[in-house]
Amino acid sequence: MDGARPAQPRAGRIRGALNPAHWTLWQQRGSLIFYCFLVEPVALAATVLAAVAVPVRGWDLAVFGVLACLGVLQAELGRKIERVRRLVSDTPHINLTSVWTFAGVLLLPPALVTALIAVLYLHLATRSLARMKRVPPFRMTLNATLVVITCFSAELVLGRLGVPDMYAALTAGWRGVTAITLAAVTYFLVSAITIVPALTITKRTIKAFFGGLGDNLLEVATLCLGLLTALTLATLPALAVAIVPPLLVLHRAVLIKQLEIAATTDEKTGLFNTTGWHLLASRELARAQRSKRSTFGVLMIDLDYFKLINDEHGHLAGDTVLRAVAATIKSAVRDYDSVGRFGGEEFVVLLPDIGPAAVLAVAERIRSAIESLRVDYEDGSRIRSIGGLSASIGVATYPDGGTAVDRLLQAADKALYRAKDAGRNQVVAGTASA
Ligand code: GH3
Ligand code: MG
Ligand code: MG
Repeated sequence: MDGARPAQPRAGRIRGALNPAHWTLWQQRGSLIFYCFLVEPVALAATVLAAVAVPVRGWDLAVFGVLACLGVLQAELGRKIERVRRLVSDTPHINLTSVWTFAGVLLLPPALVTALIAVLYLHLATRSLARMKRVPPFRMTLNATLVVITCFSAELVLGRLGVPDMYAALTAGWRGVTAITLAAVTYFLVSAITIVPALTITKRTIKAFFGGLGDNLLEVATLCLGLLTALTLATLPALAVAIVPPLLVLHRAVLIKQLEIAATTDEKTGLFNTTGWHLLASRELARAQRSKRSTFGVLMIDLDYFKLINDEHGHLAGDTVLRAVAATIKSAVRDYDSVGRFGGEEFVVLLPDIGPAAVLAVAERIRSAIESLRVDYEDGSRIRSIGGLSASIGVATYPDGGTAVDRLLQAADKALYRAKDAGRNQVVAGTASA
């Protein structure tokens, strides 16, 4: 999620968090404030009711202590990984805590699950995220509250199926297996659904928010480890510590994935960088060569007189224009077309499975969208608007324009320069020999 702020001195932060007048919550949209005030009393009421209804035994307190200690130990041992990960990704925190919270669901009375979540999230807020870009307290509170609601939903499913916990599941045969599986599915679904209203904080798309297959597999993996933790604690508790090393490896695997993304992404616009775009283009070329009949297009786009924009409005406004142009190009093409930035104000687009006439039509659509683009930016207290943009576009198509990625790029580049020479703001098609 976005919205993280640079660290401020700890004493000031704590004072800010304790004084409602200083809460960053009030700067959020009304719908989000409403959501916080909706879910927080629900989680609190559910906890109080559960505390009254379900007695806590001495053994439960021991299990609670073990889960809290293991959770804190894992977060402490993972701090270094998390710090590196946060250098390359703006995702504030990779949530591996569901290992402990889901194990809590399977072992503890509900009120103790809330206590476990409180301990783990307080530790995260004060230790793991301290000294890094900070997540505002209202977001940590909201996240923790949503976890409470998720855990209670899973507990509800277990209760309904007559298998209240892992101890009962051990003697319930297939009924136990089914109940625990359904509790895990409920956990997965409720945690995904309850986060939707938080979309309003980040303005991310639902797809970006739910993440790809990899993110969801990570959530499934943490739930599986939670299940194994609960199973171990219910049978051979001393072995539960064996969950920590695989969890650290999982954390590191997330770091590697994010390093991969960072190595192929242009930081300024979020598009592919040269390396990432070349990788995809080579893959597309190999596919086209295999299928013989396949064609694809390459567009080279260069903004016209961009230096003047920087000169008149400043480099920061220029960056805002680059981001807006990137978004415009992306929205003018299909989901599976790949848009890259080769540095400066030069963009490239790979258009798979498309013939020469359609490539020209796409290029023309992009040219026209950039022409009608207006970009607002803040200049002190004023909002200023930049319009009158234009771009020259060179086009090449496989196989006529070239049969290697570099040849195609050269053809598109030559066409681009012909577009510039011919007066800019136009699309020119190139060939290998042009
Ligand atoms: P032409 O129509 O011939 O393409 O003119 P131009 O001014 O766009 O081309 P030129 O290559 O002379 O200038 C490109 C400018 O892009 C120069 C540089 O200041 C600017 N630029 C390059 N990278 C960035 C960037 O990351 N941010 C910003 N704001 N400007 C950049
Ligand atoms: Mg230019
Ligand atoms: Mg240029």
